[in-house]
Amino acid sequence: MTTTRYANILKPLHLGFTTIKNRVVMGSMHTGLEDRFYNYPKLAAYFGERAKGGAGLLITGGISPNRQGWLLPAGGTMNTLGDIAPHRLVTHAVHKHGAKILLQILHAGRYGYQPFVVSASPIKSPISPFKPREMSDKQILNTIQDYVRTASIAKKAGYDGVEIMGSEGYLLNQFLSRHVNQRADRWGGPIENRMRFAVEIVKAIREEIGEKFIICFRLSLLDLVHDGNTMQDVITVAKALEKAGITLLNTGIGWHEARIPTIVTSVPRAAFVDYTAEVKKHVAVPVIASNRINMPDTAEEILASGQADMVQMARPFLADAFWVNKTATNRVDEINTCIACNQACLDHTFKNQRATCLVNPRAGYETELVYVKTKKAKSIAVVGGGVAGLSAATVAASRGHDVTLFEASHEVGGQFNLAKVIPGKEEFHETIRYFKVQLEKTGVDVRLNTKVNREQLEREGFDEVIVATGVVPRALKIEGSQAPQVLSYAEVLRGAPVGDRVAVIGAGGIGFDVSEFLLKPPHQVQPQPVNEWKREWGVDPNPNYVSEGGMQGAEIEAPIREIYLLQRKKTPLGAGLGKTSGWVHRAQLKKHAVRMLRGVQYKSVTDEGLWIEVDGHAQLLRVDSIVVCAGQESVKDLMPLAGENTLAQYHIIGGAKLAAELDAKRAIREGAELAAKL
Ligand code: NAP
Ligand code: SF4
Repeated sequence: MTTTRYANILKPLHLGFTTIKNRVVMGSMHTGLEDRFYNYPKLAAYFGERAKGGAGLLITGGISPNRQGWLLPAGGTMNTLGDIAPHRLVTHAVHKHGAKILLQILHAGRYGYQPFVVSASPIKSPISPFKPREMSDKQILNTIQDYVRTASIAKKAGYDGVEIMGSEGYLLNQFLSRHVNQRADRWGGPIENRMRFAVEIVKAIREEIGEKFIICFRLSLLDLVHDGNTMQDVITVAKALEKAGITLLNTGIGWHEARIPTIVTSVPRAAFVDYTAEVKKHVAVPVIASNRINMPDTAEEILASGQADMVQMARPFLADAFWVNKTATNRVDEINTCIACNQACLDHTFKNQRATCLVNPRAGYETELVYVKTKKAKSIAVVGGGVAGLSAATVAASRGHDVTLFEASHEVGGQFNLAKVIPGKEEFHETIRYFKVQLEKTGVDVRLNTKVNREQLEREGFDEVIVATGVVPRALKIEGSQAPQVLSYAEVLRGAPVGDRVAVIGAGGIGFDVSEFLLKPPHQVQPQPVNEWKREWGVDPNPNYVSEGGMQGAEIEAPIREIYLLQRKKTPLGAGLGKTSGWVHRAQLKKHAVRMLRGVQYKSVTDEGLWIEVDGHAQLLRVDSIVVCAGQESVKDLMPLAGENTLAQYHIIGGAKLAAELDAKRAIREGAELAAKL
């Protein structure tokens, strides 16, 4: 039954010449599949599934109008009629389900990771090793024609329109802002000149293609870089784009080189919607809100309050292709929520790997990881209710197997139960909620507080046993490490008291997380209120900001503890953290004066504190507590030894299989892949 609770989300948007069936935009997300024509059948399946899942408007990953605009060498380009055939697979797959699709035209400018890069001025970006050449007047005019050519080919390929990428610090944003545009000709200087390139592109496309074609412009509403635009500049550009002929105005927040996070999990939901609402006051075209919108209540509130006309989500559609249909049919609790971890999507993209999703390993693999109903139901035991076991149990049960899940503790969720208490990681609650609902829906027999042994499993006559028994924290083995002030990260995150001066041993993801956990009192209000977060990161909360790029001085709260974060390696601390989120964690600890030591040897724990040695010098860290975050060890005693005879087939997945690379992304994928085959 269709819901009225989310009436604004589900309301069609009439654009005069065409109608979008609801207010939900699946935003542009580079999957890596768009760069090679032979991957287009996979890309079509990926988009087709999301159109089937109810998204009203979909936008492709960025496609360059020419070679200079490539993000990566030989990146996806649309500049010949030969590009039409593969793209038709995509547009057809989407139109079949009554949705619309735009091709995003993205010229990377100085963000290109290739030697042909160009920009407004020859200023190298901090995120590419290549210095751009300054574009000549002629090159700019030629590039406008390249945009027009790409838009014309896109129309022939069946796209309902194009999105012109003018935010996140890409080429057009580089022209729009003084941060990179230091020209003195008609393309530089006052905002009227800086916006000329973007405006001329829109005019030229509109003139060439006519009225019945969507032109969406993604405009940077908040640059978050020095010499960035003010809100008045943004409004001037928005009005000019409207006059030039755009159909929709989309929100972009923050340049990629900005040192203020804009999409990671610690950014509060809908943190930037006020800026969208401000621009909306000045234009008549529909405006799209974006960034950290991942659940229907947030989306509905934005639309109902009139802050935007549409909501855009990119990563949430990787996590759940059926987000809209579940919303429409009162099944919000079944949504697999994007937890904004970036681990399998953006971190993959930046490593030139295919994007997928930590919580949904089928994303980008729709034709390869397929859950087919089984013809022969088996009796399957899954031992361990962490995310590996939950993934295996729910996929196996959804295929029609008879599944029993044994969990030794009183709750499912495993390591996610620890992660969810870290400040800024509240979204991890959602994954546990999702799996709990799936256990119920798929009819898994869940036995909590049940530690099984091999004899019981054999006695119950299971056909298959999946060992997903996870890990235990590795203990510190030095003199004095049995002392009560030495705690494991699991004890600390479960609430064990910790002193005012702390040494954290091990600087992997968990060492960083635990340090952040210890910096502040346990959160009174979860998650962090938007304005508090803005103060902490120096984001101007005034939607009509006059500060450069919307930045003002950060207000750092004094940490409640003195913390040392230690590692044995000599490499910089946090070097192994995620590419797109690690810098946020490093910045947080630095701002809060956490002392990071590398090349440390741990010697002993005494009543005075922790004795260490660095570069051959003995030192005493006078700390009250020592928190061990030194990795984990697998728990795999249920696995039969080689050659041992068992009635059931045994399989091992997740941390139980390999603790050294304990990783939720691998755990969930392994569980799903195994269950898809049984
Ligand atoms: P980890 O990344 O493997 O880090 C363990 C740390 O302990 C390392 O810094 C290691 O560095 C140190 N160590 C290892 N053996 C030790 C020993 N015997 N004595 C003292 N120190 C030792 O593991 P983790 O931090 O436990 O994280 C586990 C996994 O959780 C990660 O791989 C990640 O996938 C996931 N995670 C990710 C995030 C994130 O932000 N993306 C956050 C939390 C967890 P040295 O040997 O140099 O001291
Ligand atoms: Fe969201 Fe993480 Fe999945 Fe990316 S990998 S879509 S951030 S849950």
